[in-house]
Amino acid sequence: MDPSRLVEFYREKLGERSLIVVSNREPYQHIYDEGEISWICPPSGLTVGLDPIMRATGGTWIAHGNGSADRAVVDQESCVAVPPDRPAYRLKRVWLSKKLEANYYYGFANAALWPLCHVAYVRPTFQHHCWDAYVEANSLFADAVQEVAGDEPALVFIQDYHLALLPRMVKERCPRATVVQFWHIPWPNSEVFRIFPWRQQLIHGMLGNDLLGFHIRYHCNNFVDTVMEVLEAKEDRERSAVIYQDRATFVRPFPISVDFEDIAQGSSRPTDDKSLLRLVNNIKSRGQTLGIGVDRLDYTKGIRERLEAIDRLFDCYPELKGKFVYLQIGVPTRTHLPEYKLLSEQIGEIVESINWKHQEEAWLPIVYRKSYHSPETLQWLYRQADLCLVTSLHDGMNLVAKEYVAAQVESKGALILSAFTGAARELPQAFIVNPYAVEEVVNAIHQALILPKEDLRRRMEALRETVRDHNVFHWARKIIDHVSRIEKHSFSPVTPLL
Ligand code: UDP
Repeated sequence: MDPSRLVEFYREKLGERSLIVVSNREPYQHIYDEGEISWICPPSGLTVGLDPIMRATGGTWIAHGNGSADRAVVDQESCVAVPPDRPAYRLKRVWLSKKLEANYYYGFANAALWPLCHVAYVRPTFQHHCWDAYVEANSLFADAVQEVAGDEPALVFIQDYHLALLPRMVKERCPRATVVQFWHIPWPNSEVFRIFPWRQQLIHGMLGNDLLGFHIRYHCNNFVDTVMEVLEAKEDRERSAVIYQDRATFVRPFPISVDFEDIAQGSSRPTDDKSLLRLVNNIKSRGQTLGIGVDRLDYTKGIRERLEAIDRLFDCYPELKGKFVYLQIGVPTRTHLPEYKLLSEQIGEIVESINWKHQEEAWLPIVYRKSYHSPETLQWLYRQADLCLVTSLHDGMNLVAKEYVAAQVESKGALILSAFTGAARELPQAFIVNPYAVEEVVNAIHQALILPKEDLRRRMEALRETVRDHNVFHWARKIIDHVSRIEKHSFSPVTPLL
């Protein structure tokens, strides 16, 4: 499946109906750069999948405008044509005050829902004023959807945990719209969810959806169990749906993915990041093995645990000193929240102490680059790396794992992958580990380093076949297909949706 076939498929299934995508993060951001207005694409796997459809359908994307020059380029309806260099669809920006952003985005979405759903042993904080901000922000997004959709039978495709109340609000204000939401993070089991003070309101909001997608079946089942505990609803197992107030919400797994071909092609273009190029070339010229980790500095990613495993690796296998280098890319994120600030400080200190302990002459076991790297640079790096470590304590999917596989054109590398990522369900040929069990991670790294090339190649080829066949356009196709089937069958209680 490629972008042009996806667009044909959309038209075949849903006709000329307009598509409205709603997400917190915008696909294009305008910024002031030395006094001039320029634009960037904030990194997001989601943009890669939806931007091509939006370009072809000419729909509207609604998102929080937070670029420094965002206001300077919009019209009276807060809209701007994008992509800025080849306008094809509208981006409608929703404006949130600093205070609202602090409470809705940081205080609620990322300090309450994020830790609650990831169960990574960071206590969620539940503050009433942040909940109020969440309700208010969702309502501002609903105003924007209403302005665009009006009375039309639009398809409104809502993204993620920032907007759980929006589906119900849209359904009430735009009854002819079909409302679909994709939840990009895990959904915990119902026992964990019991502590959430606004669970009825949140579930009520989400059951405004006609279709609700998660990455894996397990998260769907957890969600349905939660609904059964929280509201007077019925489960329709035959159709994987929940019936609430005489309406069905279909709950289905749609594992998100990456643009396989684009990454595979991009991986052969050398990066323009001169210092990274020099670093990697040095490692290669010395015949050293390169392991990498690429993460936002988020406590769910298991970076502390991974570094501990690297430390133990050199304790257990001192013969690897001078032969193996681990490169950690860490992108600072959500630094307004104390947990993130602390983590960001800790990682640097841990790296320093491991390097101090194991360093030999010019060789350092860990190179830490605490900065954002462009997708093009990462594609090139993935191809150079002999090993990629993804050790999330919990992750809805984890796209880095799939990007690494897509870039491994020569099928030489090894993927060490946490069992607690959505990706692990699809990629069993990776070296699957429990990231909390340090010795297990150490053994997996060691095994990957000593395994015959032929065995590594066989594993990687199998992984590549999976990611090639299930790319991000395949993900979007499956969702579109389900929307069209639901519209045909949703009121027939005997028709199973396969
Ligand atoms: N990423 C990036 N630059 C960086 C680090 C990461 O563009 O310096 C991208 C990475 O390529 C991937 C995304 O950020 O597409 C991270 O997605 P993932 O699902 O792995 O984790 P998330 O950050 O969404 O929790």
